[in-house]
Amino acid sequence: MQLTNRSKVVSEKKQSFAEKIYLPAILKGMAVTFSHLFKKRPTIMYPEKKRDIAPVYRGQHVLKRDENGAERCTSCGMCAVACPAEAITMESAERKKGEESLYREEKYASKYEINMLRCIFCGLCEEACPKEAIFLTDRLVPTEFERDDFIYGKDKLVEKMNDRIDVTKRQTPEVLEFKKRPGLKHNELFSGKLDKGKH
Ligand code: SF4
Ligand code: SF4
Repeated sequence: MQLTNRSKVVSEKKQSFAEKIYLPAILKGMAVTFSHLFKKRPTIMYPEKKRDIAPVYRGQHVLKRDENGAERCTSCGMCAVACPAEAITMESAERKKGEESLYREEKYASKYEINMLRCIFCGLCEEACPKEAIFLTDRLVPTEFERDDFIYGKDKLVEKMNDRIDVTKRQTPEVLEFKKRPGLKHNELFSGKLDKGKH
């Protein structure tokens, strides 16, 4: 009984001497190889050359400071709750008198860690943050040799005073509107309900 119509009858043709020593197959393979020498190379020679990335590319996180240089994060834990990979952990502390210039709110994160091996760069932490404190940037997470080196603490995450990171490209009008209106669902931004809600 024939089980499929894709069966092929095996050829019983005798192989020539050249075929027996694979000569035609080798020449054919070499022709393919040499033909690639004259084609445009699709490989990008990273890190000398870098691929163009989207303005809203989701790379390494930054914990932002406010305009006066104080840390914006208030250790509310919303980002950790929103994170589907459970990559964020933090410890909270109470701001002491005289630390107003360091921390924007009365509560701050004394320890804040993101496990970059767990992170899937979905950006949900950024969306969940009510304080505009955490953003993903266009920076790539560098390779490391030890797993522990992928756990990024505040030393790597908090924005440096003399090296501020511009995140305005990520703050589209839709994002800003979304953050202002807690009752708004994501899909409403694209369904026209946002405009209707303004009137
Ligand atoms: S980008 Fe996504 S996976 Fe990564 S820390 Fe933020 S919420 Fe978690
Ligand atoms: S980064 Fe934002 S969401 Fe996360 S703990 Fe800080 S203030 Fe809360």
